[in-house]
Amino acid sequence: MNLILLGPPGAGKGTQAQYLIEKYGIPQISTGDMLRAAVKDGTPMGLKAKACMDSGNLVPDEVVIGIVRERLQKDDCSQGFILDGFPRTVPQADALSETLQQLNKKIDAAIALTVDIEALVERLAGRRTCSACGAGYHLLYDPPRESGVCTKCGATLIQRDDDKEETVRNRMQVYAQQTLPLVEYYINVGILHEIAGMDSIETVRSNIEAALRNNP
Ligand code: AMP
Repeated sequence: MNLILLGPPGAGKGTQAQYLIEKYGIPQISTGDMLRAAVKDGTPMGLKAKACMDSGNLVPDEVVIGIVRERLQKDDCSQGFILDGFPRTVPQADALSETLQQLNKKIDAAIALTVDIEALVERLAGRRTCSACGAGYHLLYDPPRESGVCTKCGATLIQRDDDKEETVRNRMQVYAQQTLPLVEYYINVGILHEIAGMDSIETVRSNIEAALRNNP
């Protein structure tokens, strides 16, 4: 099963990807995670990507297309994969389709999580991450026991630069302008399933599962 998860930042793509990894035994390919790892390792690509990421803008197409093309050829993608955060522009979607054609593969389904933008801003701007162990919290929905301190390891909690409110609003605008056209794109390909993303995590999960069961 080759899947694409579409939806604005904070829509729950990563959370749903975790279930799909277990259910289908296929890897998640998150360009956001791969770029963050490159930034952390200080690679040339990471250095190039950091400024775009911190301001909430997209990293140039050729950079992400290159890393996805390489990743899709790894052995663990032979039974399928879940693309999370890619494609994000029409040129990326075209490049993906070309790459898959060369690999004799195709996308089986694209899942678009539809959401309320104001609620999303609240979700993202309230996120905190442990600076040491990486555990995730939310000021409203999943607060740490002590404010600003990781309940698991006691280290300081930080806010990702791209989760700051102003950056979040910019990311939403970037999504609306550059990524939303992909909903239409995959409707035209005939593989799009729109799923309400503001329901509970379990409801979203079972709606995705139902859509994939009935996927032609
Ligand atoms: P994410 O964790 O998917 O929200 O990605 C975090 C940031 O990484 C985004 O705001 C972009 O700057 C960059 N990024 C991730 N995926 C892509 C992509 N497919 N195209 C361009 N930039 C991306």
